[in-house]
Amino acid sequence: MATVNATVAGVFSHPDTYLNVFEEVSKYNVHLNVLERAWAVSLHPKLQTVQARTATGIMSFLMHEIVYFGRCIPYMVLDCIPFFNRFKIQNQKIPTWKEQWECAALVLLSHVTVELPQIWLFHPIATYFGMDYGVPFPKLSTMALQIAVFFVVEDAWHYWFHRALHYGPLYKMIHKLHHTYSAPFGLAAEYASPIETMLLALGTVGSPIVWVSITGELHLFTMYVWIVGRLFQAIDSHSGYDFPWSLRHFLPFWAGAYHHDVHHEKFIGNYSSSFTWWDWMLDTESGPEAARRRRERKLKAVKAKKAE
Ligand SMILES: [Zn+2]
Ligand SMILES: [Zn+2]
Repeated sequence: MATVNATVAGVFSHPDTYLNVFEEVSKYNVHLNVLERAWAVSLHPKLQTVQARTATGIMSFLMHEIVYFGRCIPYMVLDCIPFFNRFKIQNQKIPTWKEQWECAALVLLSHVTVELPQIWLFHPIATYFGMDYGVPFPKLSTMALQIAVFFVVEDAWHYWFHRALHYGPLYKMIHKLHHTYSAPFGLAAEYASPIETMLLALGTVGSPIVWVSITGELHLFTMYVWIVGRLFQAIDSHSGYDFPWSLRHFLPFWAGAYHHDVHHEKFIGNYSSSFTWWDWMLDTESGPEAARRRRERKLKAVKAKKAE
């Protein structure tokens, strides 16, 4: 008992608290912004204990959960406001609370059992290839370029594996679960079998690993921003909402919600995640617009043959 009391007293009288170290770091690093200072404190040797490192792993996982479920909340609110129904793509199908609750429960289970080990494993693997943890953070232009590359690589990975998952036996065994909802909603973005979650998440976690193994350049902060961006992309594309201000209206090759909503409604075509180019190049686009373009192409070909 005496030892326990001494340990507890030691913890409380310890001068190396987070705030003390923050003050010390701030004194000697005036060139760093507040976020960089907070980051430097978390990695400060004075606070680096086994518990602190475990806390970092838990924090990464919690960030993932807060962003995932937090991003879904605005869409749940919009479902309750009739005004926004005009922007809902399949506006006769609003998910019930029961459906959303069941969906969230399976997604949470899959996060804990499948994604948590991947998040935990990412750190040692990326560190082995030279991932940077220090401050200051990389330049904005460096981060933007790397994240753009990850989006392009992940999209290619997603296109081919998602298309493969639509092959009869694989669809029945693995991908059918994700297609439970023919009118998707934000929470359904990661509603999938563990095999699918593992396979498709490899594109998200694997592209930065391949990048750092080739270039030797990657910062953990860039990885966090990429994960947040990718989660936003996945949830937005399942939201079922296409607004006049949605990104796809300004960036013509951005897939957005419309592209993936049609995939859930028709069960065929539109296999990529972020961009439309793979579906366009390989003629796997889905929906009435794509059907019209296909008809026009056929008609042109017939006319050209007749003219010969
Ligand atoms: Zn699918
Ligand atoms: Zn989907």
